[in-house]
Amino acid sequence: MAATEKIVRCPGCGGDSVFAPTNLYRPFCSERCKNLDLGAWASEAFRVPTEAPPEDLPFGDPKLQ
Ligand SMILES: [Zn+2]
Repeated sequence: MAATEKIVRCPGCGGDSVFAPTNLYRPFCSERCKNLDLGAWASEAFRVPTEAPPEDLPFGDPKLQ
C-alpha cells in the first residue's frame, strides 16, 4: 500500500506523473519533461526584447552615412 504516492499531471507533457520521493523529476513524469521545461525557462530568460525590428538593419545607421 503506497499511501504516499499521488498521481499528478505532468507540466511537461500533461500525462500522469507519480508525485512521490521515488520520482526524482516530480512534478514531471520523467527527466526529459523536466529538461524540456528548464530549457523553455532558459530561453525565456535570455530573450531580450529589441526596440528596432531586424528588417531595418539592411538600411544601416543614418549617422554613418
Ligand atoms: Zn511528462
